[in-house]
Amino acid sequence: MYIYNSASHKKEEFIPNTAGHVNMYTCGPTVYHYAHIGNLRSYIMEDVLEKFLRYEGYDVKRVMNITDVGHLSSDGDTGEDKMLKGAKREHKSVMDIARFYTDAFFDDCRKLNIKKPEVVEPATNCIGEYIKIIERLLEKGYAYQAGGNIYFDTSKLDKYYVFNDHDSDDLAVGVREGVEEDSNKRSKADFVLWFTKSKFDDQELKWDSPWGVGYPGWHIECSGISIKHLGEQLDIHCGGIDNAFPHHTNEIAQSEAYLGHKWCNYWFHVHHLNTSTGKMSKSKGEFLTVSLLEDKGYDPLAYRFFCLQSHYRKSLVFSWENLDNAAAAYSKLISRIAALDPNDGPVDDDVLEQLKKAFIDALDNDLNTSMAVTALYDVLKAKCSDATRLAAVASFDEVLGLSLIEKAEALRAKSSAPAAGGDPEIDALVAERAAAKKARDFATADRIRDELKARGIELTDTPQGTTWKRV
Ligand code: AMP
Ligand code: ZN
Repeated sequence: MYIYNSASHKKEEFIPNTAGHVNMYTCGPTVYHYAHIGNLRSYIMEDVLEKFLRYEGYDVKRVMNITDVGHLSSDGDTGEDKMLKGAKREHKSVMDIARFYTDAFFDDCRKLNIKKPEVVEPATNCIGEYIKIIERLLEKGYAYQAGGNIYFDTSKLDKYYVFNDHDSDDLAVGVREGVEEDSNKRSKADFVLWFTKSKFDDQELKWDSPWGVGYPGWHIECSGISIKHLGEQLDIHCGGIDNAFPHHTNEIAQSEAYLGHKWCNYWFHVHHLNTSTGKMSKSKGEFLTVSLLEDKGYDPLAYRFFCLQSHYRKSLVFSWENLDNAAAAYSKLISRIAALDPNDGPVDDDVLEQLKKAFIDALDNDLNTSMAVTALYDVLKAKCSDATRLAAVASFDEVLGLSLIEKAEALRAKSSAPAAGGDPEIDALVAERAAAKKARDFATADRIRDELKARGIELTDTPQGTTWKRV
């Protein structure tokens, strides 16, 4: 496989440290709010990467952190801890917030067919690991104490800015919200490893350390968790492009200074989901969630399909119209698969191998998912038996994760079952609601749904339309 490596700024052949095995680390969510569909774009594309590596025969060990402490409002070490902000907003404890939004995150992942990594580690579980790394960095002269905090000294490195080909927008992330300067820093690029002093004394979670009671910086958690579970050699590290600087830059600085050798070979960065007003972000307050898409009648997998249609290294613009197009194409795709006859055999192995080759070639080329989707459509047009087509679809879906076979089977079963409904008045209301949704009149659509609910009628929105039953 060839993959773009942000550290070398070029496409490279992917060769893991140990043949047949991949150590993969992913920056997990900061659990102070729901994940928005922008965050989930990153997790969908990382999921496709993991599934493709497995498809190619690698044994993958994947680790993800859950950020439940230390991620301040600015990625550049200033502002209040995001977790504390979330706890105050909801009048709950930080741990309650963390539990709630971690569960919500994995719920969203399940709906989007994003596999849960083998190891999921909350940052607050590994304080001992961070302290060990920081002690060593101080001993080796890579860190200093100032004003009660411990800082990483970036002047000790030959090269600090490793990802220097990002646009100014990405590089500005670290300073965007950090208007106030930290006068303890010897250089602006230095970053906090351990806080004992911050402007916000009400930090809820604090731990004892050789430097006083305090809490870790955000960056050290990913180095600590990765080294704890994956050892000193990491094959591939993933995250959204905004993580490249300062977060990943700082991870490399502290991990390599601590280990004394190169740490991670490949850096995989997913570009942003943008709206017409810019990057979708949690801090902006207004963002789209998976539940909101469901409330509006979208199948979450239609969003996954939408993401797969574009390359992970291009920003993707979200609009309802774009999502509608993807949802219609997804639903049509399922209908076409449902129309295939499983008894039209046999499976032609040579054709199947050719179809798979086109699919693998697409993903081998820097995870080109839109070409992989084209390869999927080519299966439907191929000159072969339906059984061959179905075998190819099932195989591709191990990577694409669109539940194509299950959805097609459900559709086939539904169309051979006696028609549901049968009450003209209710059918008319359901049709009226569908028309309102199409016209983006969600208030009317919601009112009709509530009205029917009050009458004991439950609606189920599916990619093929809405069904109803009495409950
Ligand atoms: P957070 O929960 O803010 O720590 O972010 C979780 C992941 O989502 C990180 O890998 C971010 O880089 C990524 N991310 C944040 N905003 C976006 C966006 N608009 N589009 C794609 N990925 C994003
Ligand atoms: Zn991270």
